[in-house]
Amino acid sequence: MIPVTDAIQIVLQQVSLLGTESVPLGDSLGRILAEDIIADTDLPPFDRAQMDGYAVQAANTADTPARLRIVGESAAGAGWHQEMKSGEAVRIMTGAPVPAGADAVQQVELTREADGDGVVEILEPVQVGRSIVRRADEIKSGTTVLRAGEAINAAMIATLASFGYAQVKVGRQPRVAVMATGSELVDVDQKPGQDQIRDSNNYTIAAYASRCGAIVERLPLAGDDTEGLKREIASAARRSDVVITSGGVSMGVYDFTKAALKELGAEIFFERVALRPGKPTVFGRLGNALVFGLPGNPVSVAVTFNLFARTALRAMQGATDPELKKETAVLSRSVKGSLDRESYLPAVLSTDEKGTLLAEPLRWGGSSDFVAFARATALINLPAGNKTIESGRQIKIFRLPA
Ligand code: AMP
Ligand code: MG
Repeated sequence: MIPVTDAIQIVLQQVSLLGTESVPLGDSLGRILAEDIIADTDLPPFDRAQMDGYAVQAANTADTPARLRIVGESAAGAGWHQEMKSGEAVRIMTGAPVPAGADAVQQVELTREADGDGVVEILEPVQVGRSIVRRADEIKSGTTVLRAGEAINAAMIATLASFGYAQVKVGRQPRVAVMATGSELVDVDQKPGQDQIRDSNNYTIAAYASRCGAIVERLPLAGDDTEGLKREIASAARRSDVVITSGGVSMGVYDFTKAALKELGAEIFFERVALRPGKPTVFGRLGNALVFGLPGNPVSVAVTFNLFARTALRAMQGATDPELKKETAVLSRSVKGSLDRESYLPAVLSTDEKGTLLAEPLRWGGSSDFVAFARATALINLPAGNKTIESGRQIKIFRLPA
């Protein structure tokens, strides 16, 4: 058995970058940036009005109501490009350029424009700079605004769009083949017969993998038979960057996944991790493909995928933080650890009235209880060597991806 951190290091050592490609901005969500993103303009690109109202000289509004002559109009996309003078005002809209000579914008609610006489009354004084965002106040042209290795989220799309990244250079997507093994499995559209259950792992792994940006191929269900497994794994390894199997790696008489990998000549880097749940996790290489042999229990699948396979898939695409995010929380109910293995137990996070992050271990039926696991938002990480950790203790947690 090797410690979890060693296993993750081994995974990272075996990963090589997949190379990069250019994708249209609209297809870039969730991908890993392969270039730094540089602002090609100031933001805002001109002194910009933040309110609908009147551009004025603040000094003109000291005594109210101040009557100012309206000399023009500045709209978003159609500014007024003359010099505004003392005693004058320019009607201005949100997002429009503030004319030269003006130093404040008074919002329209604090003004009164009499019909037809070309004069506005400013009803309250306004300070210099009010409701103006100065050119480059937000971003200066040339600034690096996003870095290579960051995963593109929805909020970053505005940044990419605003600086003209119609095409974005990102890490190539890993091709991942997913294969559930077990003679008891039937497809989701089948009614399980005697001694059978529906496969869920193929769909779980596919869902998590596509969340990491992978192109997923779900292989047909494989029975517990070494020759069949060898055939399927060998063929999947030829066309994939990563093969992820589930089931058949523990000590049962019909657990053939490891045997199949070894007979195929796969290099096995580890096959037992000091981890609960997920001890029998296998990691190896077959040809150019990395192979993860995850245990069969659906919760073990979720835990081991997120610790090992997710890390590999993100690292392959160039992610600078491929691992799950580690944080500290306070345990809100006592929980049992394990003497010889590190535990990664499902938990729900919340905060108390002081703002302290709390982790409540799920009440669950163990590593087959995927219905309970679906409520988990994090994994509680307990070091090996612990029996019971009491409520109120500080512990490490890893947030689970949604
Ligand atoms: P194994 O690791 O093959 O011994 O499987 C451990 C447990 O997980 C057994 O109860 C299996 O029936 C169950 N299991 C294995 N594969 C799947 C799957 N694809 N979907 C749901 N449950 C599974
Ligand atoms: Mg099995």
